[in-house]
Amino acid sequence: NDFESLGLSDVMLQSVKEKGFEEPTEIQSRIIPLILENKVNLIGQAQTGTGKTAAFALPILDLLNEHQDFVQALVLVPTRELAIQVCDEFNSLKGSKKFHIVPIYGGQSYETQFRRLKKGVDIVVGTPGRIIDQLNKRSLVLSKVKFVVLDEADEMLNMGFIDDIEEILKSTNDERRTLLFSATMPPKILSLAKKYMHKNEIIKT
Ligand code: AMP
Repeated sequence: NDFESLGLSDVMLQSVKEKGFEEPTEIQSRIIPLILENKVNLIGQAQTGTGKTAAFALPILDLLNEHQDFVQALVLVPTRELAIQVCDEFNSLKGSKKFHIVPIYGGQSYETQFRRLKKGVDIVVGTPGRIIDQLNKRSLVLSKVKFVVLDEADEMLNMGFIDDIEEILKSTNDERRTLLFSATMPPKILSLAKKYMHKNEIIKT
Protein backbone atom coordinates (compact mmCIF):
# COMPACT_ATOMS: atom_id res chain seq x y z
CA ASN A 1 0.00 0.00 0.00
CA ASP A 2 2.10 2.90 -1.24
CA PHE A 3 1.61 5.93 -3.46
CA GLU A 4 4.19 4.63 -5.97
CA SER A 5 1.92 1.78 -7.05
CA LEU A 6 -1.10 3.91 -7.97
CA GLY A 7 0.06 5.13 -11.35
CA LEU A 8 0.74 8.76 -10.44
CA SER A 9 3.50 10.59 -12.30
CA ASP A 10 6.82 11.47 -10.65
CA VAL A 11 5.73 15.11 -10.47
CA MET A 12 2.68 14.18 -8.39
CA LEU A 13 4.61 11.68 -6.26
CA GLN A 14 6.99 14.49 -5.43
CA SER A 15 4.16 16.76 -4.32
CA VAL A 16 2.63 13.97 -2.20
CA LYS A 17 6.00 13.67 -0.51
CA GLU A 18 6.25 17.40 0.05
CA LYS A 19 2.73 17.40 1.47
CA GLY A 20 3.92 14.78 3.96
CA PHE A 21 1.50 11.98 3.09
CA GLU A 22 3.22 8.69 3.86
CA GLU A 23 0.73 6.19 2.58
CA PRO A 24 -2.54 6.41 0.68
CA THR A 25 -5.83 6.11 2.53
CA GLU A 26 -8.25 3.38 1.47
CA ILE A 27 -10.27 5.57 -0.87
CA GLN A 28 -7.08 6.94 -2.42
CA SER A 29 -5.74 3.42 -3.14
CA ARG A 30 -9.02 2.44 -4.71
CA ILE A 31 -9.94 5.39 -6.85
CA ILE A 32 -6.69 7.05 -7.93
CA PRO A 33 -5.86 4.17 -10.34
CA LEU A 34 -9.43 4.16 -11.69
CA ILE A 35 -9.41 7.86 -12.42
CA LEU A 36 -5.95 7.64 -14.02
CA GLU A 37 -6.61 4.57 -16.15
CA ASN A 38 -10.25 4.38 -16.99
CA LYS A 39 -12.50 6.63 -18.94
CA VAL A 40 -15.47 5.88 -16.71
CA ASN A 41 -17.44 8.08 -14.36
CA LEU A 42 -17.18 7.34 -10.67
CA ILE A 43 -19.59 7.36 -7.77
CA GLY A 44 -17.77 7.26 -4.45
CA GLN A 45 -19.54 6.72 -1.19
CA ALA A 46 -17.20 8.29 1.34
CA GLN A 47 -17.32 10.38 4.48
CA THR A 48 -15.18 13.45 5.05
CA GLY A 49 -11.90 12.81 6.81
CA THR A 50 -11.15 9.78 4.61
CA GLY A 51 -8.80 11.65 2.30
CA LYS A 52 -11.35 11.87 -0.51
CA THR A 53 -10.27 15.35 -1.58
CA ALA A 54 -6.75 14.19 -2.41
CA ALA A 55 -8.26 11.03 -3.94
CA PHE A 56 -9.77 13.12 -6.73
CA ALA A 57 -7.37 16.09 -6.67
CA LEU A 58 -4.18 14.07 -7.28
CA PRO A 59 -5.29 12.24 -10.46
CA ILE A 60 -7.07 15.32 -11.82
CA LEU A 61 -3.95 17.44 -11.31
CA ASP A 62 -1.96 14.69 -12.98
CA LEU A 63 -4.22 14.40 -16.04
CA LEU A 64 -4.69 18.11 -16.77
CA ASN A 65 -2.25 20.01 -18.95
CA GLU A 66 -0.49 23.23 -18.12
CA HIS A 67 -0.87 26.39 -20.22
CA GLN A 68 -4.41 25.80 -21.46
CA ASP A 69 -6.72 28.72 -22.05
CA PHE A 70 -9.95 27.26 -20.71
CA VAL A 71 -11.41 25.95 -17.47
CA GLN A 72 -10.36 22.30 -17.36
CA ALA A 73 -12.04 21.11 -14.18
CA LEU A 74 -14.97 22.18 -12.03
CA VAL A 75 -15.48 21.01 -8.45
CA LEU A 76 -18.91 21.74 -7.00
CA VAL A 77 -19.22 21.83 -3.21
CA PRO A 78 -22.10 22.77 -0.87
CA THR A 79 -20.52 25.56 1.19
CA ARG A 80 -18.04 28.41 0.97
CA GLU A 81 -15.91 26.85 3.74
CA LEU A 82 -15.58 23.69 1.72
CA ALA A 83 -14.81 25.68 -1.45
CA ILE A 84 -11.88 27.35 0.32
CA GLN A 85 -10.72 24.10 1.92
CA VAL A 86 -10.84 22.06 -1.30
CA CYS A 87 -9.12 24.88 -3.21
CA ASP A 88 -6.34 24.92 -0.59
CA GLU A 89 -5.92 21.16 -0.86
CA PHE A 90 -5.58 21.40 -4.67
CA ASN A 91 -3.04 24.20 -4.29
CA SER A 92 -0.98 22.29 -1.76
CA LEU A 93 -0.94 19.20 -3.98
CA LYS A 94 -0.26 20.77 -7.37
CA GLY A 95 3.51 20.71 -6.77
CA SER A 96 5.44 22.18 -9.67
CA LYS A 97 2.44 22.23 -12.03
CA LYS A 98 1.47 25.78 -12.85
CA PHE A 99 -2.27 25.69 -12.40
CA HIS A 100 -4.51 28.55 -11.39
CA ILE A 101 -7.15 27.27 -9.02
CA VAL A 102 -9.85 29.61 -7.73
CA PRO A 103 -12.72 29.35 -5.28
CA ILE A 104 -16.02 30.90 -6.38
CA TYR A 105 -18.70 31.32 -3.72
CA GLY A 106 -21.49 33.59 -2.63
CA GLY A 107 -20.63 36.51 -0.39
CA GLN A 108 -17.41 37.34 -2.21
CA SER A 109 -17.66 40.33 -4.57
CA TYR A 110 -18.52 39.60 -8.20
CA GLU A 111 -15.88 42.10 -9.26
CA THR A 112 -13.07 40.22 -7.46
CA GLN A 113 -14.23 36.90 -8.88
CA PHE A 114 -14.65 38.38 -12.35
CA ARG A 115 -11.09 39.74 -12.32
CA ARG A 116 -9.65 36.39 -11.22
CA LEU A 117 -11.66 34.47 -13.81
CA LYS A 118 -10.55 36.85 -16.54
CA LYS A 119 -6.88 36.21 -15.77
CA GLY A 120 -7.31 32.58 -16.78
CA VAL A 121 -8.22 29.68 -14.55
CA ASP A 122 -7.58 25.96 -14.85
CA ILE A 123 -9.65 24.65 -11.97
CA VAL A 124 -12.72 26.25 -10.39
CA VAL A 125 -13.97 25.12 -6.98
CA GLY A 126 -17.35 26.63 -6.26
CA THR A 127 -20.81 26.57 -4.80
CA PRO A 128 -23.64 25.93 -7.30
CA GLY A 129 -25.53 29.22 -6.87
CA ARG A 130 -22.56 31.48 -7.51
CA ILE A 131 -21.29 29.28 -10.34
CA ILE A 132 -24.68 29.74 -12.05
CA ASP A 133 -24.45 33.51 -11.55
CA GLN A 134 -21.02 33.64 -13.17
CA LEU A 135 -22.21 31.41 -16.05
CA ASN A 136 -25.15 33.74 -16.65
CA LYS A 137 -22.84 36.76 -16.63
CA ARG A 138 -20.66 34.94 -19.19
CA SER A 139 -17.62 35.48 -16.97
CA LEU A 140 -17.29 31.73 -16.60
CA VAL A 141 -17.34 29.28 -19.51
CA LEU A 142 -17.43 25.55 -18.79
CA SER A 143 -17.92 24.22 -22.30
CA LYS A 144 -14.53 22.50 -22.45
CA VAL A 145 -14.18 21.06 -18.94
CA LYS A 146 -12.65 17.60 -18.75
CA PHE A 147 -13.76 16.86 -15.19
CA VAL A 148 -16.74 17.77 -13.08
CA VAL A 149 -16.59 16.70 -9.43
CA LEU A 150 -19.77 16.75 -7.35
CA ASP A 151 -18.42 16.74 -3.80
CA GLU A 152 -20.77 16.07 -0.88
CA ALA A 153 -23.56 15.62 -3.41
CA ASP A 154 -26.12 14.63 -0.76
CA GLU A 155 -25.48 17.91 1.08
CA MET A 156 -25.88 19.89 -2.13
CA LEU A 157 -29.21 18.21 -2.84
CA ASN A 158 -30.36 18.79 0.77
CA MET A 159 -29.60 22.45 0.30
CA GLY A 160 -31.84 22.58 -2.77
CA PHE A 161 -29.12 22.87 -5.41
CA ILE A 162 -30.48 20.18 -7.75
CA ASP A 163 -31.71 22.55 -10.49
CA ASP A 164 -28.48 24.54 -10.36
CA ILE A 165 -26.40 21.36 -10.62
CA GLU A 166 -28.38 20.16 -13.63
CA GLU A 167 -28.06 23.53 -15.34
CA ILE A 168 -24.31 23.58 -14.69
CA LEU A 169 -23.88 20.04 -16.07
CA LYS A 170 -25.82 21.06 -19.18
CA SER A 171 -23.42 23.97 -19.75
CA THR A 172 -20.49 21.54 -20.07
CA ASN A 173 -19.99 18.85 -22.74
CA ASP A 174 -20.68 15.15 -23.25
CA GLU A 175 -17.04 14.06 -23.15
CA ARG A 176 -16.44 15.31 -19.62
CA ARG A 177 -15.87 12.82 -16.83
CA THR A 178 -18.04 13.16 -13.77
CA LEU A 179 -16.94 12.10 -10.29
CA LEU A 180 -19.66 12.11 -7.65
CA PHE A 181 -18.92 11.81 -3.94
CA SER A 182 -21.56 11.46 -1.29
CA ALA A 183 -21.71 10.20 2.29
CA THR A 184 -25.16 8.73 1.67
CA MET A 185 -26.81 7.40 -1.48
CA PRO A 186 -30.49 8.39 -1.38
CA PRO A 187 -32.62 7.76 -4.54
CA LYS A 188 -32.22 11.41 -5.63
CA ILE A 189 -28.46 10.93 -5.96
CA LEU A 190 -28.87 7.73 -7.90
CA SER A 191 -31.30 9.32 -10.34
CA LEU A 192 -28.97 12.29 -10.84
CA ALA A 193 -26.18 9.82 -11.60
CA LYS A 194 -28.40 7.84 -13.96
CA LYS A 195 -29.30 10.97 -15.89
CA TYR A 196 -25.84 12.54 -16.19
CA MET A 197 -23.32 9.79 -15.64
CA HIS A 198 -23.34 6.86 -18.01
CA LYS A 199 -20.96 3.95 -17.51
CA ASN A 200 -20.51 4.36 -13.78
CA GLU A 201 -18.32 2.60 -11.39
CA ILE A 202 -19.52 2.65 -7.79
CA ILE A 203 -16.94 2.56 -5.01
CA LYS A 204 -17.91 2.16 -1.38
CA THR A 205 -15.43 2.74 1.43
P1 AMP B 1 -10.54 14.93 3.47
O1 AMP B 1 -11.20 13.64 3.83
O2 AMP B 1 -10.27 15.03 2.01
O3 AMP B 1 -11.26 16.12 4.02
O4 AMP B 1 -9.07 14.92 4.13
C1 AMP B 1 -8.88 14.95 5.53
C2 AMP B 1 -7.44 15.35 5.89
O5 AMP B 1 -6.55 14.24 5.69
C3 AMP B 1 -6.88 16.51 5.11
O6 AMP B 1 -6.23 17.39 6.00
C4 AMP B 1 -5.86 15.86 4.17
O7 AMP B 1 -4.81 16.74 3.82
C5 AMP B 1 -5.39 14.69 4.98
N1 AMP B 1 -4.93 13.56 4.14
C6 AMP B 1 -5.45 13.16 2.96
N2 AMP B 1 -4.79 12.09 2.49
C7 AMP B 1 -3.83 11.78 3.38
C8 AMP B 1 -2.82 10.75 3.45
N3 AMP B 1 -2.70 9.85 2.50
N4 AMP B 1 -2.00 10.77 4.53
C9 AMP B 1 -2.14 11.70 5.50
N5 AMP B 1 -3.06 12.67 5.51
C10 AMP B 1 -3.92 12.72 4.45
